[in-house]
Amino acid sequence: MQKARSRSLATAVRKSGHLQTVAEVVGQEAVPIVQYLKGKKNISEFKIAESIKAEVNSVRKMLYAMQTSNLVSYYRKKDRQKGWYISYWTLKPESFDYLSLATKRQRLQQLRERLHKEEANEGLFYICPSLCVRLEFDKAAEISFKCPECGTMLQHQDNIKTIEQLRSRISELESKKN
Ligand SMILES: [Zn+2]
Repeated sequence: MQKARSRSLATAVRKSGHLQTVAEVVGQEAVPIVQYLKGKKNISEFKIAESIKAEVNSVRKMLYAMQTSNLVSYYRKKDRQKGWYISYWTLKPESFDYLSLATKRQRLQQLRERLHKEEANEGLFYICPSLCVRLEFDKAAEISFKCPECGTMLQHQDNIKTIEQLRSRISELESKKN
């Protein structure tokens, strides 16, 4: 009982991770499309638009953006009655894992680079009290510790907290499955 519940919880978390990735990579508007298409095959863009109550043009735009990331496949077929072509769409679930992984790797790399920079300049950051700029020691010294935006004297900023936050975000992300 306990086991089954924790497994379904894990699946739910994984799924929401996929939706989050879609929202980040394609856009928030793509999320209802993914939710609707889940477990379905060859659905026309008109039916998708009708079902999620969205404009067919914006649905189509999202679908093509998803196709660029290889998240959906489609085929076109001429509608005999209407005389125009209609596209029929299917999710490619295996691509979601790949995209989530790629996005995670990219984010991890950005965070590690940021952390590296913060660690290399530990205790050497200067910040404008009005938050116009945040500079490393050398750059702040070049402008005599005066904010280039508003002229206020820059203040020394302890970046230990930033370093700790970055470290915990990195380890959090590393421990995530997807
Ligand atoms: Zn300033």
